[in-house]
Amino acid sequence: MVKATNLGFPYVGAQRELKKLVESYWSGKITEADLKAGYLKIQEAHWKVQQEKGVEHIPSGEFTLYDRVLDTAQQFGVIPQRYQHLPALDQFFAMGRGLQRPATETTPKVDVPAMEMKKWFDTNYHFIVPELENDQTFTLQAPRAVEQFKAAKALNIHTRPVLVGPVSFLYLGKPAKGVADFDTLSLLPKLLPQYIELLKQLKEAGADWVQIDEPALIYDLAAPVKQAFATAYQSLQAAATGVKILVAAYFGRIESNAEALLPHVDGIHLDLVRAPQELDAIIPLLTNGQVLSAGVVDGRNIWINNLAKSIELVEKAVQALGQDRVFVAPSCSLAHSPFSTAFETKIKAANPELYSWLSYSVEKCGEIATIAKAVTQGREAVQTELQANAAAIESRRTSPQTVNPQVRDRVAQVPAEAWKRPSAFPVRREAQVKKLNLPLFPTTTIGSFPQTKEIRVARQKHNKGELSDADYDAFIKEQMKYMVQQQEELDLDVLVHGEPERNDMVEHFGHLLHGYDFTQNGWVVSYGSRCVKPPVIFGDVSRRCPMTIEEIKYAQSLTKRPMKGMLTGPVTMMKWSFVRDDIPADQLCAQIGLALRDEVVDLEAAGIPCIQVDEPAIREGLPIRRADWDAYLEWSVGCFRLSTSGVRDETQIHTHMCYSDFNDIFDAIAAMDADVITIENSKSDEKLLNIFETKQYTNEIGPGLYDIHSPRVPSVEEMKQRFADMLKYIPTHLLWANPDCGLKSRQWPETKAALANMVEVAKFFRAQQ
Ligand code: GLN
Ligand code: ZN
Repeated sequence: MVKATNLGFPYVGAQRELKKLVESYWSGKITEADLKAGYLKIQEAHWKVQQEKGVEHIPSGEFTLYDRVLDTAQQFGVIPQRYQHLPALDQFFAMGRGLQRPATETTPKVDVPAMEMKKWFDTNYHFIVPELENDQTFTLQAPRAVEQFKAAKALNIHTRPVLVGPVSFLYLGKPAKGVADFDTLSLLPKLLPQYIELLKQLKEAGADWVQIDEPALIYDLAAPVKQAFATAYQSLQAAATGVKILVAAYFGRIESNAEALLPHVDGIHLDLVRAPQELDAIIPLLTNGQVLSAGVVDGRNIWINNLAKSIELVEKAVQALGQDRVFVAPSCSLAHSPFSTAFETKIKAANPELYSWLSYSVEKCGEIATIAKAVTQGREAVQTELQANAAAIESRRTSPQTVNPQVRDRVAQVPAEAWKRPSAFPVRREAQVKKLNLPLFPTTTIGSFPQTKEIRVARQKHNKGELSDADYDAFIKEQMKYMVQQQEELDLDVLVHGEPERNDMVEHFGHLLHGYDFTQNGWVVSYGSRCVKPPVIFGDVSRRCPMTIEEIKYAQSLTKRPMKGMLTGPVTMMKWSFVRDDIPADQLCAQIGLALRDEVVDLEAAGIPCIQVDEPAIREGLPIRRADWDAYLEWSVGCFRLSTSGVRDETQIHTHMCYSDFNDIFDAIAAMDADVITIENSKSDEKLLNIFETKQYTNEIGPGLYDIHSPRVPSVEEMKQRFADMLKYIPTHLLWANPDCGLKSRQWPETKAALANMVEVAKFFRAQQ
């Protein structure tokens, strides 16, 4: 029998129940016992729904109150000194999110920051980076996997415990602060006995299969890391704990990384959505009854599976290995997909066709069960499901909602010259200098001004229909007027309209484009209890209408100073959405690029001299394997240029990114060929700017002069120092003065104070020249 299995489930809950629960605990509204009772109930519901959907290997142990890697660190005693005095649960949350608590009669004051958070591979999830000492000791304490396995067992549900693997855990960890750099994998021999003990406890509790996640297998790995995998699994095997070990890799291809560990495990899970070609590669390597877990249902998106295709793929595995040696699985943990489409009542009513294409975690479990049944009992056994699926796939392929022939033709026929500006930068610069007549070290901001409570309330009222369109427009105009006034008073050189009309830099534009829709409950966890609800791109993208012209034109009408139009770039529009998987990413990106190009051209025609196209997501979209970078950068940078190169030489194109570590992708950044690039830099090492000098970057640059994440107002002296540092790397005539990023999360008083200091600094250096 081919088994229906799952790797992990969205622990945040059907309607973010876990988020509400932990947040109530943080704010002191419920006790630790309430928290425990609450999460047990959520877990129970999750196990039961998976069981009802027909999943036979239901995961346990991956459910977390904050982060699984943090759970792993705590349970092995990897706890930095500064948290060690705290009781277990406080300690856990303090490591995840910091803890500030005044002294009481019985307890001293606590003030500890959170540990570092990092992106989990190429997902939008962030994990807590373990801090390891070079003489780190490991002790096993209260492992989540054992606790959860037993809790499920008490409900008569037999689960498959999930662990973060020892090699990935150490590999993703970092040397603790103040410790000389060392190879964290050198700790493996000390850590492995704890894993053996954990496996023994799981065996004793009644587990048979244990899933050990080793996503680090998909990286480009040096030989010693590959060797570490072999060593680790050899010793787990030698310990003969009696449990069967399934090593799970996901989010990419393992290539030869698993060859050395393979002889020491009972099964391997592969992400056949990202790397279908690995099926043929791995099958011949499996011997002695080893199992292949075929990850055929995409755990990263919201779309229905093509069941017929998946069944074929799984059948291929079954032909080679036999039914008992194949598991059907999602490509990765379903924690990266939202909970259930059952809550999408609006889409269901308004667009039933789109609804029929959606599949979230609960529905994906059903798909997995259907595939397993089809392969085991024959397609007839699930005929109804297969027919419905085939009909939905066909409607998605041919629907006018997904396919717009005009958009397709336009993308297919983009003339070669549309991918770059007509003139080279020096020629453009001359035209821009003449037109804009800016002083040396021009001052500007990144786009948004404080999104005050007043603005948020007005938007909510407008959304609810309590504020008419006309009144809302008038309100937004008032806001822009205020913002322009403030900028004039501050004596900034290039102004912005301030983005008061935008709730979010992607969603706002999604509403103005064809091909986008919005879910009610499509939440996925981003870190801790924080969730995001990305827009959905389901069809070919084009502008519904001009998107920003009204506002920017109005803002420009209020001032003689140059106004900077403000757009979100094609790559970011895509990366921060749930993206359709039925056309290639480069094509979709070109569609968005063309829609933005029209807007850029319209802005120019409306008399806007500077246009900023934000692309903070270009870097985070970088593929995991080095071999895939060039192809990605080619189309993503290409689409940025496509969106910005329809304008005359004199129109100044800006771009903005929220980072400044360009060392590994500098040529691609340069190839964007923006006239001005503004970047985050105030918290970064000034040396990061070195690359602009060594690579002899010729275009203009605005490295952030101050951090916008905190209300702190940096002094003139402090910013002068920073500016002087920047001048060491950036030629005088190319340097701008601006903050790190947008100011939407700030309040007005600190915003004005900080910008006033910034303008003073620019004026000071101007006077020196
Ligand atoms: N223009 C946007 C703003 O100012 C840019 C935000 C971003 O870079 N993330 O808010
Ligand atoms: Zn930014």
